[in-house]
Amino acid sequence: MRLLCVATLSLPLRYLPAACLVMMASLPCWAARDVYKYQDDQGHWVFTAIKPQVVFEVEHERVAEPEISPVRVLHKVITGKNQAEVVAVNNYGMPVTVKLAFTELTNTKTSMSLPEAFALAPNSRQTLFTIFPEQPGQWRFQYQYSFTPGKLDPEFYADYAYQVPFNLPQPAYISQGFNGNFTHSEPHSQYAIDVPLPEGTEVVAARDGIVVEVVENNSGAATADFAKTKANVVRIAHADGTMTVYAHLKTFSAKVRVGQQVKRGEPIALSGNTGFSTGPHLHFAVQINQQYELVAVPFLLQINGAVVEPKPGLKIAPQG
Ligand SMILES: [Zn+2]
Repeated sequence: MRLLCVATLSLPLRYLPAACLVMMASLPCWAARDVYKYQDDQGHWVFTAIKPQVVFEVEHERVAEPEISPVRVLHKVITGKNQAEVVAVNNYGMPVTVKLAFTELTNTKTSMSLPEAFALAPNSRQTLFTIFPEQPGQWRFQYQYSFTPGKLDPEFYADYAYQVPFNLPQPAYISQGFNGNFTHSEPHSQYAIDVPLPEGTEVVAARDGIVVEVVENNSGAATADFAKTKANVVRIAHADGTMTVYAHLKTFSAKVRVGQQVKRGEPIALSGNTGFSTGPHLHFAVQINQQYELVAVPFLLQINGAVVEPKPGLKIAPQG
């Protein structure tokens, strides 16, 4: 997952403040929210996101608040020891890797020489290292991090023939294939395919696996940079470390939830036209975590009994 936004946190250290610049991965991490402030009968100030029903003077403002990323790096100060522990939390039900980069290290030592990239087990919390002052006096550190889902450098089965990831009774054709120079030019999309489909076409799992990501609350499409993070997506992790990705799905159409086991051919959502898109279509890719980056890998499709390499113009529906 790419670095998408920045949150600056400050932590009151007993001796001096250590600032931490955190770059979160995954979804946009700031959402606007209405907050109401009023004084109750006892004179206490109350802050609430629920609009009060009673009549009294209420202050109202929109504030930005962070959404919780499923993978986070945080640090905690060990009281009385003048040191901080840097901890990674992975709330994904799948392995992930975290890359960490220091943007400032002033008068600090760490408990290990940093590889600055870590593999985290599913649903785990792991102390990465300890950081403490080298000399008495001021010490500061700042870091950024990003995370990538998936087992690091999996030995995957490249000859697996994936099911066509949708059901449609009429013909459908691949419009953009591997190395498509319109939008399939980055490592994470290099070997993706696009298939124009009527909105609402049933999208199905291309292989047995576990659902690890469901994003369905985006709506609308555009061909501007901001839309690149606004596609609705389902991601399924497979036993050999590959992941299939189904993108531009219809708003609130997911039929599966995170953690759910799915079978090849099982309906997972409806196709749509959300995010960076020029028209209703399904974007499908097989990805792995290669050297801490999400990269697409070439794949094969099983079409009416034959195993074929997906190419632009190829008719891939209906299935017989
Ligand atoms: Zn695409």
